[in-house]
Amino acid sequence: MPLLVMKFGGTSVADLARIKNAAAKVKREVERGYDVIVIVSAMSGKTNELVGWVEQTSPLFDAREYDAVVSSGENVTAGLMALTLQEMDVPARSWQGWQVPILTTSAHSSARFIDIPSTNIAAKFAEGFKVAVVAGFQGVSPEGRITTLGRGGSDTTAVAFAAAFKAERCDIYTDVDGVYTTDPRITGKARKLDKIAFEEMLELASLGAKVLQTRSVELAMRYKVRLRVLSSFEDTDETSGTLVCDEDEIMESKVVSGVAYSRDEAKMTLVTVEDRPGIAAAIFGPLSEAGVNVDMIVQNISEKNYGTHTGAVTDMTFSCPINQVARAKKAMEDARATGSISYDDLVVDTDVAKVSVVGIGMRSHAGVAATMFKSLAAENVNIKVIATSEIKISVLIDRKYMELAVQALHDAFGLERA
Ligand code: ADP
Ligand code: ASP
Ligand code: MG
Repeated sequence: MPLLVMKFGGTSVADLARIKNAAAKVKREVERGYDVIVIVSAMSGKTNELVGWVEQTSPLFDAREYDAVVSSGENVTAGLMALTLQEMDVPARSWQGWQVPILTTSAHSSARFIDIPSTNIAAKFAEGFKVAVVAGFQGVSPEGRITTLGRGGSDTTAVAFAAAFKAERCDIYTDVDGVYTTDPRITGKARKLDKIAFEEMLELASLGAKVLQTRSVELAMRYKVRLRVLSSFEDTDETSGTLVCDEDEIMESKVVSGVAYSRDEAKMTLVTVEDRPGIAAAIFGPLSEAGVNVDMIVQNISEKNYGTHTGAVTDMTFSCPINQVARAKKAMEDARATGSISYDDLVVDTDVAKVSVVGIGMRSHAGVAATMFKSLAAENVNIKVIATSEIKISVLIDRKYMELAVQALHDAFGLERA
């Protein structure tokens, strides 16, 4: 039997009526002759509420208990979706991660798949069930504890199931009708793309375009999953939405194909650290052990000594997600207390955002950075940190200019035109 994976995100299962709407889409595919694995998210807002409860209870929480709490939203929607399908005469059964079992690493709150054995679900299909409704975002560790995959992780659950079950396609149903040149909430000029290359989607996702979780794109690329993003609120057919595919399936290619942003960034500067071999390791080792995801790093090259310091000193600046600032601060203070690093001050700026332009065309075109910086300058946006790679350029700016910067860059690179 051909098999489809259909994933419904939070807004697509936000209430019972929307679950019914999603179930009707599933039923249509069953009537077309597919077995379907449905991956569901928690109802929209639910995961945020659960995360909030955990943080209020325990600011530097035990990640195992965080996962125990925040994974629960998906359990509710999985059961409700199975019930809704049964009410529509579609034989369906729900599956929590441990029942499949979805085996993951024990890296709580950012676990990775180890294996998804198909035996249990395949046996149910063989019994005549047409739909397996799987709770997204969760799994079970080798120690037998519940894990979660990081925010937005249901996308990754969907792609992993599509790979494990050799699905014909993995359809990600969401509240927009595809992948756009930038978040359509930021500018009405955003243009829907019919196709986008895996690599570009990977960059856009990792730079903040939360329409797909980064890891889901990585897996789709590795396992050649046909991945599609489409609307759960519109009538859709085989041609709807955006197909994420190999570069050579795409005819038209612009130098820059999208603009991404990440709102919840923080910038931290260690003022006057010693400039000596091993200093970066002494700073970023403890940060990594504390689970801080450091993104951009800037170290000034110092040519002279400062103030009362006898040796060479420098400033070290890095960015990380805003909700990891407390952890990062503690890691630095602990490291200072043990004497492994020294600094005069730790300056935290929590009012920054990252804006990035992405495009595989950058590989062969010069001048993208210049255009980017000129257009930001024209809007009087000050750049605090810059990072580049082969197919992206990112800047850290004051958060209040984020929307303005996205719109300016979208215009500057002519993304509204087809
Ligand atoms: P779901 O709950 O279905 O997983 P998400 O909220 O995680 O949905 O992702 C969909 C949202 O991603 C859209 O509502 C949109 O605001 C945002 N988004 C950000 N960048 C893009 C983009 N380039 N194209 C489409 N949507 C984007
Ligand atoms: N519910 C989880 C989240 O909000 C997973 C998901 O929706 O993909 O992050
Ligand atoms: Mg999502």
